[in-house]
Amino acid sequence: MKQLGAILWLTGLSSAGKTTIANRVAQKLQKQNYKVEVLDGDVVRTHLCAGLGFSKQDRDTSVRRIGFVANLLSRNGIIVIVAAISPYREVREELKKTSTNFIEVYVQAPLAVCEFRDVKGLYAKAKAGEIKHFTGISDPYEEPLNPEIICQTDKFTPEQCVKQVLDYLERQNLISALDKNLISI
Ligand code: ADP
Repeated sequence: MKQLGAILWLTGLSSAGKTTIANRVAQKLQKQNYKVEVLDGDVVRTHLCAGLGFSKQDRDTSVRRIGFVANLLSRNGIIVIVAAISPYREVREELKKTSTNFIEVYVQAPLAVCEFRDVKGLYAKAKAGEIKHFTGISDPYEEPLNPEIICQTDKFTPEQCVKQVLDYLERQNLISALDKNLISI
């Protein structure tokens, strides 16, 4: 069967679980020979988005660049998984309108949980005033209003969240049911 492309756009606060879910979904799909690319906000900052900061304008530019590349890949039949805070609703909506099979995944956990996890120690630095424009602390995060998927990472395990994403892809006929069942979670 010819693989259809799609963009799974994971948005959410730092430490909400975007990278964890993105990498695990990618692994599961790759095991079944789907062509997958992960575009992680932290990783693309070193090249695709190099030189851009954290003002609203720069963040929107970053998101548009990631969206541009994601579109190139998805229209060539690749499942693209983006993990990026992407805090502004308008630019996410803009991408949703201009992309095919754009699936917004809200990776959601309360700010207090994200602060507690503080995977990269950034919340501590932001609260100490060492980092400015930090989403959730000194910069806004605009929640998605109509995401296709909400992964509540404070209530469910990473495995359950991954299954939620794979189930959605299956319902949309982007992966086959058979393949999903073969992917043991
Ligand atoms: P982000 O990419 O959003 O900054 P990370 O994926 O780097 O977040 O970190 C999320 C942390 O939360 C990891 O330590 C992960 O193990 C933990 N975690 C707990 N539950 C979940 C879940 N259901 N989904 C994803 N991550 C989870």
